Parts: sequence; C-alpha cells; structure tokens
Amino acid sequence: MSTVREATATITRSITVSDTVSGPLTAESIAGAAYIAAALLFILSLAGLSRHEKARSGVIYGIWGMAIALAATIWLTLQDAWGTAHGRTGLVLLVIAVLIGGAVGLWRARVVQMTGMPELIALLHSFVGLAAVLVGWNGHLEAPELPDGLKAIHHAEVFIGVFIGAVTFTGSIVAFLKLSARMKSSPLLLPGKNGINLGALAAFVALTIWYVNDSQPWLLVVVTLLALGLGWHLVASIGGGDMPVVVSMLNSYSGWAAAAAGFLLNNDLLIITGALVGSSGAYLSYIMCKAMNRSFVSVIAGGFGLEAPRGGDTDYGEHREITAQATAELLTNAASVVITPGYGMAVAQAQYPVAELAQQLRERGVDVRFGIHPVAGRLPGHMNVLLAEAKVPYDIVLEMDEINEDLTGTSVVLVIGANDTVNPAAAEDPGSPIAGMPVLRVWEAENVVVFKRSMAAGYAGVQNPLFFRDNSQMLFGDAKQRVEDILRAF
Ligand code: NDP
Repeated sequence: MSTVREATATITRSITVSDTVSGPLTAESIAGAAYIAAALLFILSLAGLSRHEKARSGVIYGIWGMAIALAATIWLTLQDAWGTAHGRTGLVLLVIAVLIGGAVGLWRARVVQMTGMPELIALLHSFVGLAAVLVGWNGHLEAPELPDGLKAIHHAEVFIGVFIGAVTFTGSIVAFLKLSARMKSSPLLLPGKNGINLGALAAFVALTIWYVNDSQPWLLVVVTLLALGLGWHLVASIGGGDMPVVVSMLNSYSGWAAAAAGFLLNNDLLIITGALVGSSGAYLSYIMCKAMNRSFVSVIAGGFGLEAPRGGDTDYGEHREITAQATAELLTNAASVVITPGYGMAVAQAQYPVAELAQQLRERGVDVRFGIHPVAGRLPGHMNVLLAEAKVPYDIVLEMDEINEDLTGTSVVLVIGANDTVNPAAAEDPGSPIAGMPVLRVWEAENVVVFKRSMAAGYAGVQNPLFFRDNSQMLFGDAKQRVEDILRAF
C-alpha cells in the first residue's frame, strides 16, 4: 500500500512543473517548456475549431498538444523510475492507466455513430469529474506540510475540487442516460426543486468554511455525497429540449473540475487547459441559450424558475399522407424548394440521396436551399457535417435566421427527419415545454412534406401541430428509402 502511495506521489511529482521553470536545465524544466508548448497548441486548436475552413488544422493542433503533454509526463515518470522501487511502481501504474484508457478510447471512438457523439461526450465528461474527485481525495490523504495560510488554501482547493468534480460526474451520467434514451428526457419536477438546489449550495459554502478550519475526513464524505446528489438533480431537472445546452454546460464544469485538479497537483497545463475548456464551454452554453431563447441562469441552475409544462391532451385533428410518387410530382412543379433536415436524416443516413435529390432538382431549374436549425440533430453542427460529407455546396446551406424570412414564398419544404426544430408550438403556444425556442417556420410555405416513420414526438417529447396543418402532408417510412423512391419516380 505504501509503495502504491509513494508511486502515486511520484506521478504527481512528475507532472508538477510550476516551481521548476527557473534554475538550471532539468528534466522538470524541459517538461515545463513542453507543457507550455502543449497549452499553446490547445489554444490554437480552439481558435481553429471556431471556423469551418480551419477545423481540420484545429483538430491536428489538439492532437499534437495532447501528444506532447502525454510524452512529457511519461518521460518525467521514466526519469523518476530509473533508480527507485516506488518510481518503477509509478511507471507500471502509468503504463497500465495509459493502456486501459487508450484502448477504451480507441474502441469507443471507432464504434461510435455520429448520432451517439453527444452521449459519448457526456460519458467522457463524467470521467473528468470522477478524476477530479479522486485527485481531491488524494489531496486530502496526502496533504503536504504547509504553513497555516497555505494550508487553508490547500483545504479549499481540495473541497471545491471534490465538489465540482462530483457534480460533473453524476450530472454527466444523467445527461448520458437521457441522451441515450435510457432515462426519460422530460424534466424531473420535485416539489421545491429550486429550494433543494439553493439549499445544497448554501450547505456547500458552510461546509467549505468548516473544512478549511478543521479538515475532518467526514466533511469530505458529506460534500462528496451532497455534490453527487446535486449533480444528479440539476441535470434530471432539465428537459430534453435543453439537453444541448446541458452538454456544453457539463463540458464547462468538467473544465473547471480539471482546473481545480491542476491547482491541487500544482500542474500549470491542467490549470490552463481546464480554464480553456471551462470558459469556452460556458460561452458556448451562453450562445446556445441565446439561440434557443432560454435563460442561461435558469439552465445552469437546473431549470431554475421553470414551471411544469401543461399536459399534452390537445386534439389537433387529422393528418394527411402523401406518396413518394406524388411528392416527386409536387417537386417537379415547384419553383423553389427548401430542405430542413433533422435527427432522422442522420439516423437514416439519408444525406447522400438527399444531396442527389437537391442536385437533380437544381438541374431541372428548381431553386433548392437547405435550412439548418442550430440544434438540429444531436450535436451542434451535426447537419452541416452530414451535408458537407455528401458534398452539398456550402452556398445553398443556410442558417435558420438566413432562411426563415424566405419560407413564406417557398413552394415546397421537405422536412427530412426533423421534428422539434420545425414545431410551430414553440412560436405559438406559450404553455408548450419548448415555448420561446426559435424554430424554422416551415408552416409558412405553400406545401410541407414531412418525412418520418410514424406520428411519434421528437426529442423533447412534444407533439407537433405542424403534422396536422392544411398545407402539410406526411410521407411515412425511413427517410433514406423514401428519398430514393422519389429519385426513382423522377
Ligand atoms: P427530433 O429529435 O425532434 O426528431 C427527429 C425525428 O426524426 C423524430 O420525430 C423521428 O420520428 C424521425 N426519425 C427518426 N429516425 C428516422 C428515420 N430513419 N427516417 C425518418 N425519420 C426518422 O429532431 P430535430 O433535429 O428536429 O431536433 C433535435 C432535438 O434534439 C431538439 O429537441 C434538440 O434540442 C435536441 N438535441 C439537440 C442537440 C444538438 O446539439 N443538436 C443535442 C441534444 C439534444 P419517427 O420516430 O416517427 O420516425
């Protein structure tokens, strides 16, 4: 046991660089320089990822940054492992961790479907949270000898790190369960839920003060349990429609958890990277909240202030159906067509026949454009990636705000596997759970054809009155097969 402890301390020492960048050239100072290079590459990576054309180079910078950070850490451990028994144990632990982590990461990344990406990301965030909890606990068990003032700071770092890590851990697990439909996507509305969240936060502040003055292990146990419960409750209280914001919010939490771990390990790279992830995730959540007309504070506070949505007992009347043959005729006579894809296009992998359909219509002189909702599909930019993959020209792919005004004069809108993102209830029914979310106003077009397999609701679990409008017709079946039927009918 003591060897394992010493070995853990070796790894911790190996990635501790902040007090080594001055003085003679040592293994630590070289690693410190490598960490700074890695941090710069991470910043370049983020900058690249913010633009379509530079996204590929952004990913490459990120890979290099991570490779340099890993290589520097492994090299430092090797240096330490050379002479001592605990150093060698540290090396073995590191190799085992890298092999297991690398193998699991490679396996998941190879098998994951594009539509399963947000679930995978949520699961990965949960690991970051768990790691921060473990680092925090290690910081308690291996508390260094420090003068009184610094000791208080160390205790605060341990306590806050464990709290953020545990909230991130269970919050991310609930997000994973909701996104993978293993848990109902509707919000959990416990009586007094806002009081529960505020009470947990107040308790956390009080416990932090207590722990800073008297670092009893049972206080750490209490805050761990409290934060695990709070993380679970925060995300369970948020409805499916707001999940994109939750995923990016958890991304931000995981960044802060990593930064907290960085302070404990005295590791500059973790602090910088954690702060980058934390702040960019928070900003992305803010932009998404604005795009979806949601209150940022309400979402990060677990649906704070949201009322229970009204029951869905409205009778919308009858829907009409259309065949692929009739849709082909409608399209041939159309002057303009707008295609609004959604999650169903991704599930059906219909982007290739959809691209073919767009091309054939353009060859016939029809004005064809795509209208993309910011949260269509299951991850930001999901539809853009699929359409780019199928080589749809960029200039006919427009954002929601760019196309919405033009929908009124459009002959035919093809809604391909989209549902929540074209739901008029968001614009017209203040009692709807997705009220206020900006949507593609497809119902303003002359004709709407909705491609889906049934009358089932979309991700937010809300019925869509669009299907029952006089100008709407349903083309049932798998989106890919139906689009291919239309191509054959041409
Ligand atoms: P929705 O999830 O609302 O609806 C998709 C529709 O596709 C379903 O109604 C389904 O109907 C249909 N469908 C599924 N498979 C097929 C298939 N093989 N062929 C044809 N149709 C199919 O999609 P939207 O893209 O409109 O909205 C995205 C939703 O996901 C929003 O609520 C958003 O908040 C949420 N979300 C978005 C994220 C993001 O970052 N983009 C992340 C997490 C959640 P049927 O079963 O009848 O076929």
